[in-house]
Amino acid sequence: MLKYEIENETETSSQVSQISQIKADVIVVGSSISGLMTSCYLKLKLPHLNILAIGPRPEQEKRAYVGESLTEISIHFFWEIGLKDYLDRTHDRKNGLTFYHKLRIDDPNDYRYSVHAPGESLYYHSRQLNRPIFDRDLYHHAVQMGVQFLDGKVKEVNIGDGKNHHQAIVKTATGECVQLSARWIVDATGHHRIIGKKVATYNHPETGQRSAFWFRLADFNEFLPQLELSMRRPHEYDLLHSTHHFMGHANWIWCIPLQSSDRRNLISVGITYRPDLYDRPMQTLEHFLAAVESEHPAVAAMVRSGQILDMHSYRNYLYSADRVYSANGWFLVGNAARTVDPLYSTGLAMTALQIQQITEIVRRDLANTLAMDDVEALSSLWCQITARRQVDITDQYVTMHDPFSAHLRRYWNLNGWWNAILPLWWCGFLTNPQGADGLMGLLQGGEKSERAAWDLFRDASTQIGAAESRHFEQTFDFDQIINRRFDRPIHSIPQQLSRYFLWRLKMRFKLMKRLGWQQQVPQIRPLLLDLVRMLAVKYLFRLKFKSLFQTIDPPLCFDCASAAKQDHLSSIQALLP
Ligand SMILES: Cc1cc2nc3c(=O)[nH]c(=O)nc-3n(C[C@H](O)[C@H](O)[C@H](O)COP(=O)(O)OP(=O)(O)OC[C@H]3O[C@@H](n4cnc5c(N)ncnc54)[C@H](O)[C@@H]3O)c2cc1C
Repeated sequence: MLKYEIENETETSSQVSQISQIKADVIVVGSSISGLMTSCYLKLKLPHLNILAIGPRPEQEKRAYVGESLTEISIHFFWEIGLKDYLDRTHDRKNGLTFYHKLRIDDPNDYRYSVHAPGESLYYHSRQLNRPIFDRDLYHHAVQMGVQFLDGKVKEVNIGDGKNHHQAIVKTATGECVQLSARWIVDATGHHRIIGKKVATYNHPETGQRSAFWFRLADFNEFLPQLELSMRRPHEYDLLHSTHHFMGHANWIWCIPLQSSDRRNLISVGITYRPDLYDRPMQTLEHFLAAVESEHPAVAAMVRSGQILDMHSYRNYLYSADRVYSANGWFLVGNAARTVDPLYSTGLAMTALQIQQITEIVRRDLANTLAMDDVEALSSLWCQITARRQVDITDQYVTMHDPFSAHLRRYWNLNGWWNAILPLWWCGFLTNPQGADGLMGLLQGGEKSERAAWDLFRDASTQIGAAESRHFEQTFDFDQIINRRFDRPIHSIPQQLSRYFLWRLKMRFKLMKRLGWQQQVPQIRPLLLDLVRMLAVKYLFRLKFKSLFQTIDPPLCFDCASAAKQDHLSSIQALLP
């Protein structure tokens, strides 16, 4: 094992008289959220490794802070690195993702919305990050865990070939030059992609790009009292403490309440849109207000009532790398690997999943059990999941304003998250190379079936015409689709996955019946395919992954279920007189 060493050497350059050399086990380039998450997790799981993170401290640079909403994988990740109590104390509670589908999107005087959110509280409570505070505290947490930091910028990188280590030249904040070498190197430099641009090919979609404009707002009047909401059942929690999504023509708006010690209230507000479908200008607050006034005047009124703290925008920002890990020991994480449309708040969740995969690769490499195919399987699975999700979201912008069609898309996607992705992740299938390889087979060829479902949702909406709140009550029950206890042992996986296919079958079957069978010929094949897959996962999944069922390790080593139980007990106690 390499030890952390610093040596000094004379250099010929006229500007720099001395060059220090540092050897580490892992270099993490970039010290924003993805770099900090990677450093902490590697240190937690492989404490004997020297982890060196390069980059400025949070307070030394202007970051495009959002106010990220955490979802199941990301919140568990932060619990595992020891931040549960801290998050509970310092960051706002998130009860779930809440979607507001306006019944008459073109009428600014109509405030009626069909709202889709969990009615019952989720088993795992999540949090929404006040990023400036969180980044600062995460940095200190990393230092406490034993991560080493070098404040500076990597100027040059030479990627090793497996035999020779990776080399990097850093210019420190004090102007020194430092030469680094390490067996593993992580690119967490966001859109700079300092390593990614050398080792991967990035796809920038030509159609279906995304742009976003956002800001943090303080001391405002809340939007909820102004809305006329209809929900299937009364919600059991304070709806304000959710991640709010307002759907519009080729755009959606997020409102994410944040906890603040020095403000009456604080919220992150932003709009994401497809520039090829949405032709309004969106560079200033006035542009934002003019656009939002016409679709969601309650949001515009909230913004007018408050004080803007900062403002950011990204234009045409979507890209994704064709591969994200290599057996030669380089890894691309977070925005260095891809950018996301944050519709389902899975940005940090997918980053957390990457970090768990990277940790597994390094662990196997150290044990000399890593095969080239292992790295390829994990990289391909991760790229496939993120790409499929982004293609789906891109297509949704065409019908985002249409409440009925859009709510069906929502349920279709949430079924995938709760009944397939989460149980598989929980049991370790997404972080195990053999699991990843097997799952790639299951994912292949599903695009046609997805597209047929999207057409079906459009047709169902056309049949209804102008939707009323009662129409939503006659479709599917959000609370039943959600698999709150995805945290079950491995032997329940076949049953959980078959539930996923069963929901797809139910949704397709019910809508086909409503629309009349004769016109639904294109749906028959996908319907039968889901039926076959449902039976296959129920009866054959265990057989296919027989050896894995005995050996697979779940990625988490934290007793999440007991912690969540304690949360529920505390909530009940807080209600008692
Ligand atoms: C509009 C929007 C909303 C989002 N909402 C959510 C959400 O609700 N939930 C969620 O989970 N995710 C969300 N995401 C995703 C999430 O915000 C991003 O995944 C995350 O911020 C990316 O962080 P990063 O550390 O990868 O990149 P960055 O934050 O860009 O950090 C890159 C770092 O690298 C450093 N760097 C660059 N070059 C060098 C160099 N040469 N040497 C050293 N350091 C260098 C920079 O200084 C910087 O500190 C959202 C994203 C967007 C765009």
